[in-house]
Amino acid sequence: MAAFGRLKQCLPTGSTICSLHTSSRVTAKQHYKMLVLGGGTGGITMSARMKRLMGAENVAVVEPSEVHYYQPIWTLVGAGAKNLAPSGRPTANIMPSGVKWVKSKVQEINPDSNTVRTEDGSEITYEYLIVALGLQLHFEKIKGLPEGFEHPNIGSNYSVETVEKTWKALQNFKGGNAVFTYPNTLIKCGGAPQKIMYLTDAFLRKTGKRANANIIYYTSLPVIFAVKKYADSLWEIVKQRDIQVNLRHHLIEVQADKQEAVFQNLDNPEETKTIEYGMLHVTPPMGPNMVIKGGPLADEVGWLDLDKDTLQHKSFPNVFGIGDCTNLPTAKTGAAVAAQSAVLHRTISKVLKKEKPDMKYDGYTSCPFVTSYNTVMLAEYDYDLQPVETFPINQAKERRLMYYMKADVMPHLYWHGLLRGLWGGPGPARKLLHLGMK
Ligand code: FAD
Repeated sequence: MAAFGRLKQCLPTGSTICSLHTSSRVTAKQHYKMLVLGGGTGGITMSARMKRLMGAENVAVVEPSEVHYYQPIWTLVGAGAKNLAPSGRPTANIMPSGVKWVKSKVQEINPDSNTVRTEDGSEITYEYLIVALGLQLHFEKIKGLPEGFEHPNIGSNYSVETVEKTWKALQNFKGGNAVFTYPNTLIKCGGAPQKIMYLTDAFLRKTGKRANANIIYYTSLPVIFAVKKYADSLWEIVKQRDIQVNLRHHLIEVQADKQEAVFQNLDNPEETKTIEYGMLHVTPPMGPNMVIKGGPLADEVGWLDLDKDTLQHKSFPNVFGIGDCTNLPTAKTGAAVAAQSAVLHRTISKVLKKEKPDMKYDGYTSCPFVTSYNTVMLAEYDYDLQPVETFPINQAKERRLMYYMKADVMPHLYWHGLLRGLWGGPGPARKLLHLGMK
């Protein structure tokens, strides 16, 4: 709510919340043909598509937040290249018109009785269910956080509450260690922990402070990136820019009053290192949404248990899923959501006609590695970690054009294409481009 207050102050004068959809707290038992849980990237995208497929009156979305954020731009907010306010829009404005917005939190899903219970104790029944609840951040799994964010020189691009602290830390940096972390869990946008590091390097060079800085990256992973083609380029970049990379280490404690961070060596857990920092960027541990974890829809870890081709639930054929909450074995990104949305739309339209789903998701995902204030290396790949690139050029190179796409084109495609269910990711564009080349 605090964030909404701030957003409202920042909205241009005269801008209105156009609530053509209907919104309410649930008071009585309700029933929908299609119930969507979560109004983030995947939830809004699918509700727009389901509206087209079955009519707005048959679709409802359960989402408690007043503001919907375009999270990928926070990388640039943390580096001072964009403002925070335009990254959020009132949920009322992006909810497809006519679709019912249930402004509450899902508390329990019971797929045996096709029932969802919300925080206020109400029940909603459904014929079909799309689960799009995202993942959860766990700053509290690092000793000293989240309270450590009250101190200066520490930030995280992963949350609306902490992203502007990154930019403050960067501006305040006088010298010493600038430290960047990647936790020992699955995360969304696996490139974001590095992007802010390259932007920090560029900012310190621009402001003449780079000579007094050690830029250090601690990652739990045994590699800099999972796809070899892009990993090779990233190793070149860190070498050129004099950035130290420590593999198989993760952050376990922050003593923010002393500006110290404690890391554990994952290959030798007895070994810990304490590092003094002038600036610290934390990527928090992440995990499944607690509403799914331990329930009948979860796999053994807690993620939504889906068929990786069709995005239909493995045990409940009237349940589907999309995005960060799922166990699809690919990187969790908005780009993946875009590609998944086209497949899921097709799967559901087949299931409605009692036909077999016939389109397969190939695991497409993408990571625009921002490597400076005007360059990006655009990684795109599939389930097999094989590059599946949109452009007929070597995408492992840093390019200005890709920065322009990330900073200026993608936000438009997001608000006006993806969230309206009109854009299914770069797959079709890629095919057209490649056909055009032949
Ligand atoms: P979300 O968009 O997170 O939506 C989940 C929704 O569920 C939220 O609205 C939440 O309020 C709601 N919810 C949660 N619990 C409940 C409940 N109990 N009841 C009801 N509703 C609930 N992706 C890219 O493609 N490219 C990038 O460059 C990129 N960069 C990123 C940089 C950063 C710093 C971050 C944080 C993310 C980035 N991403 C990027 C990732 C991308 O934003 C996510 O993968 C995408 O938003 C996932 O969509 P989703 O619908 O699964 O989850």
